[in-house]
Amino acid sequence: MPELPEVESVRRRLVPVLEGRRFERVEIADARLTRPFDPDQVARELEGERVVAVDRRGKYLIVRFESGRALLVHLRMTGSFRLRAPADDVLPDDAYRRAVVRLDDGSDAAYRDVRRFGTWQLLEPGELQPYLDARVGPEPLDPAFTAKGLAARLAKRRAPVKAAILDQRTLAGVGNIYADEALWRARIHPLREARSLEPAEIRKLRQAIRDVLLLGIERQGSTLRDYALPDGEAGGMQDEFKVYGRLGEPCDRCGTPIERIVVGGRGTWYCPHCQPSPLERAGRTAS
Ligand SMILES: [Zn+2]
Repeated sequence: MPELPEVESVRRRLVPVLEGRRFERVEIADARLTRPFDPDQVARELEGERVVAVDRRGKYLIVRFESGRALLVHLRMTGSFRLRAPADDVLPDDAYRRAVVRLDDGSDAAYRDVRRFGTWQLLEPGELQPYLDARVGPEPLDPAFTAKGLAARLAKRRAPVKAAILDQRTLAGVGNIYADEALWRARIHPLREARSLEPAEIRKLRQAIRDVLLLGIERQGSTLRDYALPDGEAGGMQDEFKVYGRLGEPCDRCGTPIERIVVGGRGTWYCPHCQPSPLERAGRTAS
């Protein structure tokens, strides 16, 4: 599932293609993409809109139009874009293509989605900010994302810390992969109660979250199954994983085999030595 680094990598490839261009013709072939709104009606509404910016907030892509409206795209599990430059041939056949935007320079931005959980929402001027504010917490790469702020958001929560950082209202953009990688770097067990973290641990966690997200952007995201960049290229972050998906492999730091548990319904990988469990920690403090 695309997380912040994947969505940011997609955004960076879309910017030079979309910014300044007008949506000339729009076809939306899947009613799930725009529901509860009629896909044809949304397509007609989009035609003629000129793009002033392609932004990102958490895992949302935001196509901002000159009119003040915005198209909010969430890739969910398997959404992705494919681009066709004006000089290229027609788009190749694709059974999973759900929408195509023809731009006024003759290029196409096609949207494909195997599992069809992705969404396109057309928001009217003034609707975007309240919509996002209700759903998404601070951007972890923003300087305003401080250890103090993170501490305040974790303070009263009995939920496992992993579940707390997956909650998009705690912070924006972290999903299963980057949560596991950040907790390993910060040496925090995923099942620790969020409120039990000490100030020094929260500082480490904040730094670890930022570091893994920045590395993920540098590697242009991680390609496990479906994620690809708009030119079809794969990301490289999967080669940097320290714990995610590495059951039984030795920890890079201490050699202990990586273990897997389920936290909040999500597969979770961690090092049982570097990330001591809440029980072990209690034992260490008592003795
Ligand atoms: Zn270890």
